[in-house]
Amino acid sequence: MQLKLAKYAGFCFGVDRAVRMAEEKAKEQLLYSLGSVIHNESVMHRLTQEGLVSLDSLDEMTEERPVVIRSHGEGPQVYELLKEKGLKIIDTTCPYVLKVHRLIKEHSETGKDVFLLGDSQHPEVRGSLAWGSENTRVLDDLDAIRSVSVSDKATVLLAQTTLTEEFWEEAKKLLGERRKNLETINTICSATRERQEEAAQLAKEVDLMIVLGSRKSNNTLKLVEICKKHNKQVLHFENSSEMIGNDIVNYGTIGITAGASTPAWLIQEVIEVLNNYGKEQHFSMENLSMKDMLDQQDFSAPKKNEILKGNRTAM
Ligand code: SF4
Repeated sequence: MQLKLAKYAGFCFGVDRAVRMAEEKAKEQLLYSLGSVIHNESVMHRLTQEGLVSLDSLDEMTEERPVVIRSHGEGPQVYELLKEKGLKIIDTTCPYVLKVHRLIKEHSETGKDVFLLGDSQHPEVRGSLAWGSENTRVLDDLDAIRSVSVSDKATVLLAQTTLTEEFWEEAKKLLGERRKNLETINTICSATRERQEEAAQLAKEVDLMIVLGSRKSNNTLKLVEICKKHNKQVLHFENSSEMIGNDIVNYGTIGITAGASTPAWLIQEVIEVLNNYGKEQHFSMENLSMKDMLDQQDFSAPKKNEILKGNRTAM
């Protein structure tokens, strides 16, 4: 059995930054967070033990504690309400998401129709939408695009940061047929793009692909979707205990990737379980130690000007 761990697996820059910021502040004082800082129960458990209470509504925040805004971001009304309540804000909104907020605000203020491609139920999309006007709308799927009125009105299309490039390209083309005066700004973040491209490549090369991460994590589910396009054998686990009972030992080469909210220790745990499976199976890790593999993971911040410039294309 051979294991191949994706270089871009697990925590992305934005999640790593958010967890670190929350952890640092939790060491100093008790905190609230508006929703889970990260879609991972064990990381949330650790943060809770360190003094963070995650609540879904501002009304429940009855004590004077700083409030963590998670990397998904929030709408302007939430900042106003927190200000009214006199609560300090620890803003961990990912810079990529802030860019979407800024673009939605700027373009909707000029009177354009602004469409955000993504999952309308996802907190990132709900928060982003709140920066727009009555002319700002979410497009969940291709059917929603087909229902957009045909018009010459100036229109802008943006993307939820964790979408697949394939869906973006399809949506751009379809909306372009209904809106001739369309500007498209691809706001899929580079961490998502790198993970998806690498997962697709790895899935093509291996006999079995394992994707690790929460079933609530949008980017993990997208990785599963992408891997399934390139390999019939794909397993999705939230943790190592879910591996029990799965027929894993019979595969020659196993690829592993993980969503942006999957901590490195969970990846390590799964590798250890596979390692133990493989002891009687002449296990080899392509000359890489586990430490080497984890050291190769990339938590790097966006490159200089990457967020501010973005990629603009007009159709
Ligand atoms: S997936 Fe992208 S946008 Fe989301 S937190 Fe990570 S880096 Fe930021």
